[in-house]
Amino acid sequence: MAKAAVLKDIERLEIEDRIIPSPGDHEILIRIKSCAICGTDIKVYHHGHKHIVFPRVTGHELSGIVEKIGKDVVGYKEGDRVAVAPAIPCGSCYYCRKGWQSMCDNLKAIGYHFDGGFAEYMIVPETAVKNGCVNKIPEGVSFDHAAIAEPLACVINGQQLSKVEMGDTVLILGAGPIGCLHAELAKNIGASKVILTDIVQQRLEMASFTGAITINSKEINLKEFLADITNGRMADRVIVAVGVPEAQEQSLELVAKRGSVNFFGGLPKESPFAKLNTNILHYGESFITGTHGSTPLHNKMALEFIASGRFQIERYISKKIPLEELEKGLKEVEERKAMKIIVNP
Ligand SMILES: [Zn+2]
Ligand SMILES: [Zn+2]
Repeated sequence: MAKAAVLKDIERLEIEDRIIPSPGDHEILIRIKSCAICGTDIKVYHHGHKHIVFPRVTGHELSGIVEKIGKDVVGYKEGDRVAVAPAIPCGSCYYCRKGWQSMCDNLKAIGYHFDGGFAEYMIVPETAVKNGCVNKIPEGVSFDHAAIAEPLACVINGQQLSKVEMGDTVLILGAGPIGCLHAELAKNIGASKVILTDIVQQRLEMASFTGAITINSKEINLKEFLADITNGRMADRVIVAVGVPEAQEQSLELVAKRGSVNFFGGLPKESPFAKLNTNILHYGESFITGTHGSTPLHNKMALEFIASGRFQIERYISKKIPLEELEKGLKEVEERKAMKIIVNP
């Protein structure tokens, strides 16, 4: 028997003893070592999700050890240290063949369609194994750090879509863990100025390790500040790492001509509208993109970036907790008291 944190229904999370599943011929059984709490885990806890049928084990930022492989699995062996990319592409639709697996028409996800990482054991489904979702963790990278590869992979996808280049001024709205990863990645790419904004002072203080200029946008007029430090050119790249329509609206006033805006955070599904001054796009020839998740290859890149030591991953981990404290951990992340909390089941 093994423990699993099972979401039975909205806001009904129970620790259960379950029989350890055995992998099918093409599946892998993983002993979970680390699973980080993500903002979407909190959303799912309160509101459920269109792809979730209860009961479900959530958790998608995870790493562990290969415990057992199905008889037809090749390329992995028991004892391998792995991180699993949770978004599972089908491998055969138009978008998959284009290499845009995050846009797969048949996308499934661990923690949504399949049980996830808030448990001692997890089965990696066949499509995930076959499409490269199981990445070996480079030497020297801990399980806890490897769990952060998932959000970093999404950030890498976002900055590729935003076309962040060396010399750019990059403005990031929202100084949570995602905003901080964006700041560190932009600096690694060679952005000359990186600015992180938030309205919560405590978050800005937590984010100062990134070396970005931190601005409390409740106290400082962002537009004036940005005009000042860029000689009126504004930011080449604006990344909206919060799901707030006002921030999306404001972002267009902060982008340079021919620059790009990335709606990295989604809006709540009940109110997905923002009022945009599209003339700014018209006259400024600027671009808007969104970002939805990442591909298995982005996850591999993220693991390699982490192994390179160019990210201060330890700074993202505020706390490590056992599975039994998951519910408490969700609340703490929700109250923005912590960066990332890692569950070690
Ligand atoms: Zn996540
Ligand atoms: Zn596909």
